[in-house]
Amino acid sequence: MIKCLGKSVFGGIAVGRIKIIQKSLKEIKYVKTDNTDAEISRFNHARDRAIRELQKLYEKALKEVGEQNASIFHIHQMMLNDVDYTNSVEGILRNQGATAEFAVAVTRDNFYNMFSSMSDDYMKSRAADVKDVSERVIRILCHAETSIMDSKIPSIIVADDLAPSEAVQLDKDMVLAFVTVHGSSNSHTAILARTMNIPAIIGADIPLDGSINGKMAIVDGYNGVIYIEPDSRLANEMQLKQEEDLFKKRLLLKLKGKDTVTSDGKKIKLYANIGDTKDLTLVIDNDAEGIGLFRSEFIYLRKNSFPTEEEQFEIYKTVAEKLSGKQVIIRTLDIGADKQADYFHLDKEENPALGLRAIRICLTNQEIFKTQLRALYKASAFGQIAIMYPLITSVEEIKEIKKISEEVKKELDEKGISYNRDIKEGIMIETPAAALISDKLAKEVDFFSIGTNDLSQYTMAIDRQNSKADRFYTPYHLAVLRMIKMVVDNAHKNGIRAGVCGEMGADLNITETLLKIGVDELSVSPSMILPLRDKILKTDTSNIELQYDL
Ligand code: PEP
Ligand code: MG
Repeated sequence: MIKCLGKSVFGGIAVGRIKIIQKSLKEIKYVKTDNTDAEISRFNHARDRAIRELQKLYEKALKEVGEQNASIFHIHQMMLNDVDYTNSVEGILRNQGATAEFAVAVTRDNFYNMFSSMSDDYMKSRAADVKDVSERVIRILCHAETSIMDSKIPSIIVADDLAPSEAVQLDKDMVLAFVTVHGSSNSHTAILARTMNIPAIIGADIPLDGSINGKMAIVDGYNGVIYIEPDSRLANEMQLKQEEDLFKKRLLLKLKGKDTVTSDGKKIKLYANIGDTKDLTLVIDNDAEGIGLFRSEFIYLRKNSFPTEEEQFEIYKTVAEKLSGKQVIIRTLDIGADKQADYFHLDKEENPALGLRAIRICLTNQEIFKTQLRALYKASAFGQIAIMYPLITSVEEIKEIKKISEEVKKELDEKGISYNRDIKEGIMIETPAAALISDKLAKEVDFFSIGTNDLSQYTMAIDRQNSKADRFYTPYHLAVLRMIKMVVDNAHKNGIRAGVCGEMGADLNITETLLKIGVDELSVSPSMILPLRDKILKTDTSNIELQYDL
């Protein structure tokens, strides 16, 4: 038995045969040609076909994994239409008398190197995209196979890396799990794996030389371990775990429609985190009691220019109406740091997580903020919308926000446009500054939602994007837990509620502590709603012995 380790991207157990995906692109050699016009025309035809294929992939992904995840195929189409990219190919064709496949390969390598050397993480991750899209064109030019999946037997897919376009081509019924040697947890492929509910491991130290192809293996997505040719004892153990998993999932369906109450009678609001209207089906299927965090910046990230007030209004209205009167907390634009959109023309910063992001951008560019607020207030007439502001650090910021929102409301009043005058407005507590002055902030707002992802990053001084610092990250750091307690206490003293919408809210190992602290709401990814409800129903808060010195 061989045991290989990697990093878990999505949990679950898969048992089956390994299928190694080798990319079979021929090495592209320089061949001189005199017929440059014919090569330009070959390139144009191949590029047009690639764009059509990408459109089909976009439509497929849209149905299966939602607009947010599908948008990568629009980005790929844009890359193939990019003037710098096409000029580069044509320049090589004209100046070097090369073939179309050679010109695309050289352009691929040049752009790949250029993007990889950029310090901005978002731009860096475009390197894989430009490679992916160029190889699609080369495959068409070389008449190579475009599909990476020819398997008729469900298999464990093992690859060096999987580009988003490859991940989405995988026929879900034929994929038991996927394992890659490279990749990062924030890549589009990792996000797609989570959305597809497929156990996935990245950064695996697994041999790709063909020696393991077809061999039986077990992927333990929970622990990031792959066992090749497992012994019968381990195979039995994992098979039991897998059956238990399925059984538990089926049992959890019985919790649909039930109230989320601890065994000692404390009602907890169990909400879902979403980033797209496409996620609403998951919200409803998993019986979330509302939406605790709609990351509105994804609306901006999917576009190439600012979304208009009308576009935003339609989205917010749809969410409010689909939730039929249930709470929908929409967070205002949290762009900046790792979430970048070119058309914002943000300056490159040394420390983007500490720079102009989230509410700071909105307070700096107030027209962007006002457009969003107008759309939100207008949509509030159609359901139970609440507004939440990210990355707050001071009372002054809240006063400034209130001044701007009053101006927006006055404008709506003057135009006779209706909105919910009792709309609730809250803030995210995701900076140590906000936590430490939460007594003062609580007097200014209707609710708190604790963003443990950023609160942990800023408290422990650990970049959440940087896996190299993983070893210094303490999951339940006492400083973070103490701040959560301080925030909840200050909220309650001032008669407002406090929830958790960061990833810690979905961590079943800390649920009891959060409930004991007195958290009123938990907002998690839709697939975690029922496991969390189960955990809460079984918890007696009067009997919890705290393990931490809070
Ligand atoms: C958080 O910081 O915990 C949070 C929920 O916001 P995001 O992950 O979008 O930064
Ligand atoms: Mg945050």
